[in-house]
Amino acid sequence: MEELGQKLSFDAKRAMVNELRRSFEEGKTMGYEWRVAQLKAILRMMDEREADFMAALHSDLSKPYFESFLHEISLIRASCSLFLKQLKHWMKPVKVLAAITTYPSTAHIVSEPLGVVLVISTWNYPFMLSLEPVIGAIAAGNAVVLKPSEVAPATSAMFAKVFPEYVDNSCIRVVEGAIHETTALLKQRWDKIFYTGNSRVAKSIMTAAAKNLTPVILELGGKSPVVVDPNCDLKIVAKRIVVGKWGCNNGQACVCPDYIITTKSFAPRLVDALKSTLEGFYGKDPQQSKDLSRIVNSKHFARLTRLLDEDRVSGNVVHGGQRDEKQLFIAPTIVLNAPLDSPIMTEEIFGPLLPITTVDKVEDSFSVIKSRPKPLSAYLFTKNKKLEEKFVMTISAGGILINDTTLQVANPDLPFGGVGESGFGSYHGKFSFDAFSHKKGVLSRGFGGETPARYPPYTPWKQAL
Ligand code: NAD
Repeated sequence: MEELGQKLSFDAKRAMVNELRRSFEEGKTMGYEWRVAQLKAILRMMDEREADFMAALHSDLSKPYFESFLHEISLIRASCSLFLKQLKHWMKPVKVLAAITTYPSTAHIVSEPLGVVLVISTWNYPFMLSLEPVIGAIAAGNAVVLKPSEVAPATSAMFAKVFPEYVDNSCIRVVEGAIHETTALLKQRWDKIFYTGNSRVAKSIMTAAAKNLTPVILELGGKSPVVVDPNCDLKIVAKRIVVGKWGCNNGQACVCPDYIITTKSFAPRLVDALKSTLEGFYGKDPQQSKDLSRIVNSKHFARLTRLLDEDRVSGNVVHGGQRDEKQLFIAPTIVLNAPLDSPIMTEEIFGPLLPITTVDKVEDSFSVIKSRPKPLSAYLFTKNKKLEEKFVMTISAGGILINDTTLQVANPDLPFGGVGESGFGSYHGKFSFDAFSHKKGVLSRGFGGETPARYPPYTPWKQAL
């Protein structure tokens, strides 16, 4: 029975992809009007169903409404508006200089849609991280299948129910499900796969994609460091670290500060500033605060408590550490000087635990970061311009932000994506349009400008040229 179910589900998926491919090949998705109509439909969906999506986000993550509005809804609204404003311009062929070697000729680059693309999304920003790539795929003229994360089931169900009421179902579909469904989807032929999630699954995605030489974009995570130079404005540093860590889904964001590096002598002042900021933001008993998301599920709760309860770590908790499994609550927690080889300092945390590691001089932080896999983001707080320059030039990361945390995602003129183990390929704004386009070089010549030298026979006078 199970086998029959798998076969049927595989066949159903193949039929769906074939239908989307037919629509694509008929040219349905090509025109500017179709693309704009879909983007406007997404905006309309948000106008009419915003409260339902917010409720779904709250049900999945107890995400505070203000955070959902700020990080999910308003970013997608801004993205749709940007695309509606710029798309006509981005779709235009771009003229480039004609080379002397091809004289006389004209040359331009045409942005061509790829075909039928698959977007596999994750649970922590399940609305924004699903729609942001889908918007890019549609705007670039592709048919698209969205596979939301089963780990955020309410948001996934909302997409499955509501999206088809707004967008063109002959070209845009939502498929819900977990590993089994995703595996069946990955057996289809796609023209691009955009995956957001962890690096272990990313390897399976690449393996599946390789069978059809399908290009992939992998948006992964890692351990994003925050270097704090004592030469800084400590009050502001503390606020910006706290909001970037616990104010972003309670640490469950790919760009959250994962660990801090500061100097031995400055660490006590930094810890005190973080503690008092935390108390100012979330009160003396943070479990009572309505402004902290909960851990997404018991599997992740167990993963986080394992990091914290490790022998070499549990004694180093200098703030927080309280937990309530029933409520999936872990208090904002600071750990000072966990060994560099302990799991909390080697595995991505993705939760409300913040280790601080110390060095003699702030410059020593560079070698700590460089000895580890390349992170998705790297942050530095300093007033020292020379240090800032050195950081930007020597630290390899998906993106860098100086004197703040996480805000780099809100600038659509910056490419967002990883490097090394934090992934490859980037998106946001025009980068999303480019991510889902093939850049087709077109050289055009007339019938003049003949140069006999290029044609055989290659007589001695030609070879002497
Ligand atoms: P997840 O469990 O939701 O998995 C992501 C997607 O992969 C889901 O759609 C899921 O169904 C699918 N999946 C899971 N196992 C699979 C398998 N064996 N085969 C095929 N598909 C499978 O999310 P996650 O992996 O827990 O996400 C957290 C990770 O994602 C963290 O590492 C985080 O840093 C990273 N992340 C990166 C970004 C980014 O933009 N770079 C954003 C958010 C999260």
